[in-house]
Amino acid sequence: MAHSLAMSYAQMGVKRTLLTLVQVNQKHGFDCPGCAWPEGRHRSPAEFCENGAKAVAEEATLRRVTRDFFAEHSVTELAGRSDYWLGQQGRLTEPMYKPSGSDHYEPVAWDEAFSIIARELRALESPDEALFYTSGRTSNEAAFLYQLMVRRFGTNNLPDCSNMCHESSGSALTQTLGIGKGTVSLDDLYKADLIFVVGQNPGTNHPRMLSALEKAKGNGARIVAVNPLPEAGLMRFKNPQKASGVAGRGTKLADRFLQIRLNGDMALFQALSKLMLEAEDADPGSVIDHEFVETHTHGFHDFEKNVRELEWEDVEEATGLPRAAVEETVQDVLGAKSVIVCWAMGLTQHKNSVATIREVVNFLLLRGNVGRPGAGVCPVRGHSNVQGDRTMGIYEKPSAAFLDALRDEFGFEPPRRHGADAVESIRALRDGQAKVFIAMGGNFVSATPDTAVTEAAMRQARLTVQVSTKLNRSHAVAGEQALILPTLGRTEKDGDRFVTVEDSMGMVHASRGRLAPASPDLLSEVAIVSRLAMRLFDQDGVAGIPWERFEADHDAIRDRIERVVPGFDDFNARVREPGGFTLPNAPRDERRFPTDTGKANFTANALDVLRLAPGRLLLQTVRSHDQYNTTIYGMDDRYRGVHNGRRVVFVNPGDLAERGIADGELVDLVSEWPDGERTAEAFRVIAYSTARGCCAAYFPETNVLVPLDSTADTSNTPTSKSVVVRLERHVAAGGAG
Ligand code: SF4
Repeated sequence: MAHSLAMSYAQMGVKRTLLTLVQVNQKHGFDCPGCAWPEGRHRSPAEFCENGAKAVAEEATLRRVTRDFFAEHSVTELAGRSDYWLGQQGRLTEPMYKPSGSDHYEPVAWDEAFSIIARELRALESPDEALFYTSGRTSNEAAFLYQLMVRRFGTNNLPDCSNMCHESSGSALTQTLGIGKGTVSLDDLYKADLIFVVGQNPGTNHPRMLSALEKAKGNGARIVAVNPLPEAGLMRFKNPQKASGVAGRGTKLADRFLQIRLNGDMALFQALSKLMLEAEDADPGSVIDHEFVETHTHGFHDFEKNVRELEWEDVEEATGLPRAAVEETVQDVLGAKSVIVCWAMGLTQHKNSVATIREVVNFLLLRGNVGRPGAGVCPVRGHSNVQGDRTMGIYEKPSAAFLDALRDEFGFEPPRRHGADAVESIRALRDGQAKVFIAMGGNFVSATPDTAVTEAAMRQARLTVQVSTKLNRSHAVAGEQALILPTLGRTEKDGDRFVTVEDSMGMVHASRGRLAPASPDLLSEVAIVSRLAMRLFDQDGVAGIPWERFEADHDAIRDRIERVVPGFDDFNARVREPGGFTLPNAPRDERRFPTDTGKANFTANALDVLRLAPGRLLLQTVRSHDQYNTTIYGMDDRYRGVHNGRRVVFVNPGDLAERGIADGELVDLVSEWPDGERTAEAFRVIAYSTARGCCAAYFPETNVLVPLDSTADTSNTPTSKSVVVRLERHVAAGGAG
């Protein structure tokens, strides 16, 4: 906690830090703008983690970026700055405009800003020439109005940060269980006998999940951690809110650590299912939940045939694990009545991610581990409201039912043609098919793959618009014209209005800003969308949609959400209950699976072992502990022993020895793809106990290595967790190594 307080004092000072942090995640306070881990019913006085405190401090900082800053710093100069430096400059204070041909942002009035955007949008030959991106911090109310405006304008081009993170989860779960979300609650975690934590580093990315795992362990649960990296938070948790955590050794978390090879997870879950079927053969009726399989599932026999044919050589090669380790793990499974599998990007950012997650579902369905206490799937979302945004309609592939409801409620025919996701948006900008890019939050150019291609594409746009709280790289990599629209943060008051968010477990609750806005010239996200819509649609009358009322009264927005989005009955009343309410979830609540078969679907997935050419390694891009998505809080990664540096690559000592490369040497990372090679220069090698053949380095620095066309099947998510690279000694300009 000392680290986060030190950072908070540096940004906010002592008094503001203490007054602000006591409001985080409280029932009448504001929701942490960090990750989407849920709060329990009981709230402790310090209901935040280290990284939550950092996220709040970054937003509630007293540092300001004023018009003088932009007069001093050209866009070209800002593009040469690091994401860390840009973020440390502070909060944006007024709208800024970069005219065509200029290299500087200059102040612009809000009214003029909306006119510029409306003029450029109307000048397009088709609404599909515009892209409307959403970052997962956007509130439900702003997200609902944003998609309404975009569809009223005539396009479904609504890419969002989900496209880069849990899209593979949504695709696989919708196909197999009929809902694109997790099916467990916090209480289920406390009731589980066995919890798998796969491809996830909760210690950094969802820190308060460690408290939940500690509580589950206290209730007798066993934990299996599956990860190429021995992440500290998975091994032992020193709970800062407990004496044993502050003074003692803390709680051992993982009972079993499977140091799996990148992309080995599909083979692991297929092998576990294979062993369970064989255990059933040996003792019929002792393993498989036949009643559940016969009553609630479809496709068992194709699945069974597929995993029975699995070859152990392929399993061992794909996982990098000895057969014995998998056989020991299946004993944990057979000894557990209720099993939960949690995961994050380590599962979702591979070419075969959707199939891998389908295998996780197969594994759980065998013993009916869905839709009963202590059992189910738990994709842990990154951004605080990324799940809520999708629920509100932020999706380039909306369902017909959602569009029908929108039509019936607002009296216009929404576009039916699916829009562009994040990767398709970059292609559209690159190929000149898209000319206007508008982002509701986020840092698109740093969050996306193939940095050189993405940045060149963004600079081709006729207009880029960033709705932001702080400076970031997407302001420096701008279109011909560019606008920065500074918005209120989650911590800040917006009159007496409140917004709502949905966490990773489907709980919807209120968030009330408590701090005075960083500047009198900020507008809320809702106000920005409403006023832009009024300017955009003023010629064809806005009678059907009361944008002005929506800005003033968010209850009016929630009344419409209630009528368009299932599960929000009595929204305004229920969300005022302390802690809010939980959205319905058919698989969890009723063991009902609204899939194409009306049942939970077993699937048969072909295992494709990732084999590399000699001398190559598999790279995964990761966050440091002082980072949240593309926001860099600091230059340390103390859980991995890194201080004051980010251009580092973690490599197994055995792989270094094979290549004759020493710990501490400078190397270039070179990725190979049919369209050529991509290089990230001058990374310091850190000998680190990664899985053999696998290495790791931070994003956004290594996003340049991820080819735009290297995406997951079905979900089109960039494959940032399995990039084929080679290490080359770095030769500095002028010849010295
Ligand atoms: S666990 Fe996530 S939501 Fe909770 S305080 Fe930490 S960063 Fe914020």
